[in-house]
Amino acid sequence: MGNDLDRIAALLLENGGGKADWGDISHLKGVGCPKGVANRFLLCCLLDWQSDADVAWRKGEELAMKLGDPDDIWTTISSFSKDQWDSRYEELGRPHRFHRGYRRLWAIANDICVRYDGDARRIWAGKSPFEALIHLWALGAGDQISRMIVGALRDSDQIKGDSGDVKADLHICRVLGRAVYGEEIKASEATKAIQLARTLSADPWSLDLPLWNVGKSYCRPTNPSCESCYLRPHCDYHHRHGAERTGGSSAI
Ligand code: SF4
Repeated sequence: MGNDLDRIAALLLENGGGKADWGDISHLKGVGCPKGVANRFLLCCLLDWQSDADVAWRKGEELAMKLGDPDDIWTTISSFSKDQWDSRYEELGRPHRFHRGYRRLWAIANDICVRYDGDARRIWAGKSPFEALIHLWALGAGDQISRMIVGALRDSDQIKGDSGDVKADLHICRVLGRAVYGEEIKASEATKAIQLARTLSADPWSLDLPLWNVGKSYCRPTNPSCESCYLRPHCDYHHRHGAERTGGSSAI
């Protein structure tokens, strides 16, 4: 298995490496990050919780605009009473598919105002990736979203560090599990996916985008397109099921 793990990691980096685009925070070109950019970035990340990423980021931008696009968006959100905020879910365009995904923004906004003076940059500025992760967990950002935020901040040169975990979402649990174990890892076993990614790379975050892209493009929940997937030569799921799915040999 060791050799297959090495080849899977190498194929992911060869075919899908690079850094994701996290919006304005990815395009600062060495200029210090403005507060408004950092705050909007965090807003979009928080809406990514249990959501489709593309929808979440569009909804985040829309929500910011509906609130007047303030640099101090956490102060704006916390200026509502809890009931006022809850009642504006429809008016603000259902910013998250779950009401609770929208509602939690109010509690987090209040925490950011109290602990970080309403400035998201103070959550991570000058901190190591692990220290930033602990602060995000304490805010209630969510385990996997916190890991994603730390990875995005590394991608965007906002924090320095050599290593970070994957965000073990549905795509990543499915692809990692199928490729290595021949069956997907359940979302409730995200820790297993995180540990498996650590065995594949000293910097698991470098595999996050390629894994996500395989999950989005080929390794769909049903009928994965193994014929098009570059992981096929070393994928245990394909070795086990390729022949029965194609009605012939799974040899490549
Ligand atoms: S070869 Fe098939 S099962 Fe394996 S990762 Fe690719 S799409 Fe998924």
